[in-house]
Amino acid sequence: MHSTNTSLRITPIPAFTDNYIWVIVLDGLAWVVDPGDATVVEQYLHQHQLSLAGILLTHHHADHTGGALALQTHWRCNVFAPDSSHPAYQTLDCHRVVEGETLTLQTHTLTAQVIALPGHTLDHIAFYLNAQHLFCGDVLFGGGCGRLFEGTPAQMFASLARIKQLPVDTLIYPAHEYTAHNLAFASMVEPDNQALQMRIVDTQQRRTAQQATLPTILALELATNPFLRCETLMHTPQHLSDTSLAVFTSLRQARNQF
Ligand SMILES: [Zn+2]
Repeated sequence: MHSTNTSLRITPIPAFTDNYIWVIVLDGLAWVVDPGDATVVEQYLHQHQLSLAGILLTHHHADHTGGALALQTHWRCNVFAPDSSHPAYQTLDCHRVVEGETLTLQTHTLTAQVIALPGHTLDHIAFYLNAQHLFCGDVLFGGGCGRLFEGTPAQMFASLARIKQLPVDTLIYPAHEYTAHNLAFASMVEPDNQALQMRIVDTQQRRTAQQATLPTILALELATNPFLRCETLMHTPQHLSDTSLAVFTSLRQARNQF
């Protein structure tokens, strides 16, 4: 859909230790993605004099869903959630959404396509807003990817492949600030990657200034995130007889210990 809005604003609210609750604001109405904590969202809405129009949930983990009930009770707002029987959703009045659906959040100006991305959890979905902004929860992070709590490496690898098919200028909004640690791991995997070394410097500067390193851009992830670079890494000496999925699986295991 053609997007005519110029006032769309997307901002992270820091929560817990390293979560971001993304706020999407258009025409005085706010949408929040994965509100694990209602209090910080309410503070933000109050400070900026916004009304909450709705909540988007990517997966059932408590640090993504824990504030949804309090917010929905206060604002009587819409909640869009994965089509799963998990108890995290059962107290909410949810619109259950599935792969391929396009949601009209605000008429003609805010739409979201639902993309199924299993791996971190089996119910994990992403919201692809106005064919430009991807809210991917805990699937892809700056320089890394989510842990496999429920899915198989093959499922996560396929989910990352879906993201790689989006336009390279897609803006990506992960739910955690993990970039610096992920890039330290990436640098061990690809010490000679120039784009990666530049990104590490940029990331250090932002963190020193207490700025978010997110959103990120798909093109930057394709150049620096080892979990999106398995087809390149499979041609390196240590992986010569491996498939790209085997490279991914060994990287994910190594990252768990890092
Ligand atoms: Zn999670």
